[in-house]
This record gives sequence, C-alpha cells and structure tokens, in this order.
Amino acid sequence: MSLPESHTEIHLKSRPEGMPLLENFTAAEADVPAIEEGEILVKNEWLSVDPYMRGRMKDTKSYVPPFELGQPMEGGCVGKVVETKNSAFAVGDYVVGNKGWREFWKSDGKDALPIDAKVAAPQNYLSVLGMTGMTAWVGLNEIGKLKEGETVFVSAASGAVGSIVAQIAKIKNCKVIASAGSAEKIAWLKEKAGVDEAFNYHDVDDVSQKLQELAPDGIDLYFDNVGGDHLAAAIDAMNNFGRIVSCGMISGYNDKGPKPGPSNLFKIIGKRIRMQGFIVRDHQDLQEAFVGEMSGWIESGEITWEETVTRGIENAPAAFISLFEGDKMGKALVKV
Ligand code: NDP
Repeated sequence: MSLPESHTEIHLKSRPEGMPLLENFTAAEADVPAIEEGEILVKNEWLSVDPYMRGRMKDTKSYVPPFELGQPMEGGCVGKVVETKNSAFAVGDYVVGNKGWREFWKSDGKDALPIDAKVAAPQNYLSVLGMTGMTAWVGLNEIGKLKEGETVFVSAASGAVGSIVAQIAKIKNCKVIASAGSAEKIAWLKEKAGVDEAFNYHDVDDVSQKLQELAPDGIDLYFDNVGGDHLAAAIDAMNNFGRIVSCGMISGYNDKGPKPGPSNLFKIIGKRIRMQGFIVRDHQDLQEAFVGEMSGWIESGEITWEETVTRGIENAPAAFISLFEGDKMGKALVKV
C-alpha cells in the first residue's frame, strides 16, 4: 500500500461554552508520522466519540488532562497496521488505541492492543466489546454488586453503556426499568433489549412520579448516566440499602456553571443508600474476564447492540455533538 505524505487530524480550536459547536473544531493537515525501529504505523478505520470527551474540552483539573488547543484530540480508535518495524506486529493486524480524531498514528506497540477481527467486527471493540461495554459490566458487577432478581433503573438506556447495562441486568433475571429520549429508543428497549418498563423522559412531567408508578416496590440499583432529575427520581424510588452506580451525569456536561444537587439527597441517609462513582480504566485488570463473558453472551445471542455510524473523519465533530442531541442509537462511531 502506498502511503500518503499527509493526513487529516481534528483539532480543538476553541473551548466550547455550553453546547459544543462545529466552530469549536478544525480539520488540519499534518505529515503522516515516520516510524523508527520498534514502531508501527496504524491507519485508523474507526473512531469513537464519547461524552467524557466534553470534560476534556474544559480547561479544568480532572482525572484526565484537558485537550490542548491546536493539537489533535485523543480518543478510542481501531485501525490496521500499515507499516511495521516491530516484530510483534504484522502489516494487516488490527489494533485498538487511544489516538483517535486522526487518520494515522505511530506507536512503539505499548499503546496498541491487538484484537482478533475474526471474533467480532473491528468496530465492536469500541462498543460492546470495548470501553463502553466494559463500563456497563464493571459498573453493574464491581461497583453495583448486582444480585439476581433485583429491580434496576438505568438512564440513557438506549446508549452505548445503558443498552448493555439493561441487557446484562436482564440476563441476571432482574426487573429493568429504562429511560431514554425518543419513541424509537423506547421501542428498541422493549422489543430488542427486553426491558420490563421503559419511558421517554421528554413525555413525562415528573420523572420521580413516573418511576414510582413503574416500580411500586422500589428500585435496588440505579445505574446513573444522566444525573439531574433522573438521579433525584432514583433517590426517591430507592429501597433501603439500595446502590447508585454513578457512571456519568450527561445532563450537566454542557452547563455553564454548577447547578444545585438533588434537593432530596438527605434521603440517602435514612435509606442507607451507597452511591459510588467509578472510572472504567481503573479496572483494566478485569479486561480479560469482561471480554470472556461478553463474547459468550454475544455468541449465544443474549446481548444485542446498535451502532450509529457517521462517515468521514471531517464529520467527527458532528458525530460528537450528536451525543448531546439525542438522535443516535447505541454507540456513536465514525468510519474514517
Ligand atoms: P450514550 O451512547 O448514552 O450517548 C449519550 C446519550 O445521553 C444520548 O444519546 C442521549 O440519549 C442522552 N442524553 C444526552 N443529553 C441528555 C440529557 N440532558 N438528559 C438525559 N439524557 C441525555 O453515551 P455513553 O453510553 O457513551 O455514555 C453514557 C454515560 O456514561 C455518560 O454520562 C458518560 O459520560 C458515562 N461514561 C462513564 C464512564 C466511566 O468510566 N465512568 C465510561 C463511559 C461512559 P437520550 O435520547 O436517551 O436522551
């Protein structure tokens, strides 16, 4: 394969204030990196866009450093090795890395995880078999300590993480109540993911009242992807000794300033609720166990998933923005 001399990278041009806009990003041309002894050159085929990236667009201290202005952003990606000076990799191997938002990247191999593209399609290693699938699995098992037969509430339930949470909980014979933002998503949750109850939160005046209607015996575990009114509703509906798995709070990611927390937070005391946040990358030691169990569920047809694909690296910013507009199903991916 003859390689081009230059490639496209997506840079953060300015830090978004509130909802990200296309003008916050720019497509830049850069030289395709030359590799040295021990290195590989990877051509990205798939890029992941994820809500956590919104946090990296702010210039604030967090568990990951902010994206630098005028530099290519980072993110999950799957690509093919197109040139190698590292005997552990052959041309044609597929690898997962964190050098998304660009067409080519080089590596000494340490940050390029080989994947078997015969077991699953390469892009599945960014969704059901990748970071988002693992977030669901770790959150329910390690953080939530989910038990058979419990009642689970999950928000953003048709998304990359939520859709897998809902189905793992069903595999564990739990009653699952799901919320999402469109009629199409609710239909998918009921018909494909097999949840017991699902509601479109845009059609509901009071999420708390709706949840209590759907879970008259209370909920044992809330998998929080949204925060805000969903979190408050879960606290209201929670049984004694319930657990809140704080995975994400997307409803606040574009807020221009801090908002008050749930006014019913005091209830976590009387109800002895345990609320715990987590970051999936702290649990890399569980990667093999996760892939093993998830591959089995995929093979047996117990887990299904959706991917919404945006074509063209230049459209990656639009794919990212769509995460906050609610018009995509399952995992948002960019085909380079
Ligand atoms: P999704 O695929 O779920 O995409 C985001 C979805 O969130 C949208 O499709 C939309 O669906 C919903 N949403 C957007 N804005 C709002 C809002 N204001 N109120 C309610 N829902 C909203 O993303 P992921 O599955 O990748 O991520 C889900 C959550 O998990 C995020 O909060 C993310 O930050 C977090 N996360 C945390 C990780 C960790 O290690 N802790 C790792 C990965 C993700 P709808 O139409 O239903 O509104």
